[in-house]
Amino acid sequence: MPAPHQAATRVGIGYDSHRLVEPGPLLLGGVTIPYPRGLTGHSDADALAHAVIDALLGAAGLGNIGRLFPDTDEPWRGADSLALLAEAWRHVADAGWRLGNIDATIITEGPRLGAYLDPMATRIADVIGAEAARISVKAKTNEGMGFLGRGEGIAVLAVAALEGS
Ligand SMILES: [Zn+2]
Repeated sequence: MPAPHQAATRVGIGYDSHRLVEPGPLLLGGVTIPYPRGLTGHSDADALAHAVIDALLGAAGLGNIGRLFPDTDEPWRGADSLALLAEAWRHVADAGWRLGNIDATIITEGPRLGAYLDPMATRIADVIGAEAARISVKAKTNEGMGFLGRGEGIAVLAVAALEGS
């Protein structure tokens, strides 16, 4: 969907989750975190990168990560999700959109991510050529409830705002 000619802001939401399995380390937002378990799934299972991609594509009306990078596509097996993010951002920018901001929440019972949140935001900002101040990454627990509370996996919610020219 091309960006409208008049000034416009659009928002998109992204959600992703992956199962936690041994061995680690844990990879989120392109940052490697020492931990006995890591995320498993297609590509490198970087749930933060995947949620951000879906938020950006959703805001631009360009579908989602599965449409841009089908699971059946061999080149993306084990792919670096920040490379997928760069490719997704190229589609969004080519359609005429500029980044307003991205805000993400990682839901996990462990490990503690406080020291890694700013580095994650910086990595994402670098990949899409944005100022780090436009990217926010937060973390919280699920208060011990459900599959997230039992530590079976990690989920990420992300929203993105895009500005038309
Ligand atoms: Zn994913």
